[in-house]
Amino acid sequence: MNLMNQDSYQTMLAEVQNFHDKHQLKKYGGEELNYRVALMAEELGEISACVTKGKSTELLAEECADLLILLMGTAIAKEFDLNQAFWNKMAKLEQRSSKMVDGRIRVSEFRD
Ligand SMILES: [Mg+2]
Repeated sequence: MNLMNQDSYQTMLAEVQNFHDKHQLKKYGGEELNYRVALMAEELGEISACVTKGKSTELLAEECADLLILLMGTAIAKEFDLNQAFWNKMAKLEQRSSKMVDGRIRVSEFRD
């Protein structure tokens, strides 16, 4: 545990895989996409509640971690490389422009 690189995506993914294996998520429906989408929506709601109810940043971080773990688990379930998807998407985002929309900065393709 102490020797692993906690900044490594692969180390994090292996830990999530261990969690899936421990609870046999694949065998018992825990990797079904529609179920996982519901779980991710649930966690997003918890993140939202942290903000609207003025909860601590510590609790906000925990709820964000819940969502991240579910996202990584979804990458396991659907067998895609989320690390690569992250870098591919960041490369796209870096090409986009930003503008102010209703007083807030927005980065988008602004097609229309
Ligand atoms: Mg939560």
